Amino acid sequence: MDKALLELIRISHAVGRDSTLVQGGGGNTSVKTADGKYMYIKASGTALKDMSRKKGWRRMRLDVVLSIIKDKSITSLETHAREIEVVNRLLLACDDEVSGVARPSVEAHLHGFLDRCVIHLHPSSVGAYVNAKNGKAELEKLFKDEKLPPLWVPYTDPGFTLAKKIARLVDNYQKRLNKKPAILFLHKHGLLITGGTADSALRLVRKVINRCNSKLRQPKGGKIKSISQKKINDAERYIRKAFFEATDERTTVSYFYDDEIAAFLAQPDAEQMLSAGVLTPDELVYSNGPAMWVVAPVAKIESQNIANRLRQQIEKGDRHAVAFLVKDVGLFVAGKKKIAQTVRDIVAYSAFIRSNAKRMGGIRCLNKRQRDFINRWEAEAFRKKVAKGEIGKH
Ligand SMILES: [Zn+2]
Repeated sequence: MDKALLELIRISHAVGRDSTLVQGGGGNTSVKTADGKYMYIKASGTALKDMSRKKGWRRMRLDVVLSIIKDKSITSLETHAREIEVVNRLLLACDDEVSGVARPSVEAHLHGFLDRCVIHLHPSSVGAYVNAKNGKAELEKLFKDEKLPPLWVPYTDPGFTLAKKIARLVDNYQKRLNKKPAILFLHKHGLLITGGTADSALRLVRKVINRCNSKLRQPKGGKIKSISQKKINDAERYIRKAFFEATDERTTVSYFYDDEIAAFLAQPDAEQMLSAGVLTPDELVYSNGPAMWVVAPVAKIESQNIANRLRQQIEKGDRHAVAFLVKDVGLFVAGKKKIAQTVRDIVAYSAFIRSNAKRMGGIRCLNKRQRDFINRWEAEAFRKKVAKGEIGKH
């Protein structure tokens, strides 16, 4: 067995088993072979922690992966055709005996031109900075003593354009500093760490996360209160009703109430923080945008109000909310049970980021053009595959 594959499994388990690192749906890893010919990379559809010698990864020919970025015939394609072509090319770059249809991570091409071991994550600790208006300046302060300064990657639509942009930025960085960057902060996206060895990459991940966390705080007031069953039942029933009226879909509604949700509900400006807009592509894809703020008690009038707001979202061409934060009651999620837990995690992730980002100059949200791109590309093409279980989040 190739040493690089063993290293990939080791870093994937180390990162994947740490719940503070794999929040927000993000997470992929890769390790290049010593001869520089191949790259082992996480496959979509298997969680990092579940990677084994038999599954959860693909081996790709590095020269083929790198050629995708440089191919001018791809650049000239229309967006949708281009992203399909890239996914197919990535699949063609695979050279292994892995059975089944597992695709390499859709972010594979941007791993190609980075250092030997790559760890990519969307941790909320980094999210607080990369989604704040002054986040870049704050990160520069935090990491000013690094021998190799972190590389800041301005927001770019995911997929091919992002890979191309990172390739260019890394190239410039290398010309300036004679080294590849070790830490990359991706605006409104996440973190990329690269290192020559698995150990150095893992050490650097922990260092960056700890340093980011040193200036952040969990919102206070997160004590769970006892809430009457009647309030919960009423809210659940009226949200279900409003959802049906606005969307014509019958749905189940799941209820969540825990320290993180309670803490956010207790923020005096929670409603304002949510109204800032859609935070990240993950939030848009996995929970249709931010949770809708609802004032308790949820009775008939409030139910009509929720239905009207959902209709307005649909009329504007936005995705309608599936998460509802009801003041003094908790979080309600419309949709299938197994998806509801993911939505809950995204809501808690987004709440932590919003609470911290507002102290760093304010929350920076996705604009209409950026949202439309995600809706068209990721939300349509990829959501279907995610729903069918063909691919994971990465
Ligand atoms: Zn990512």
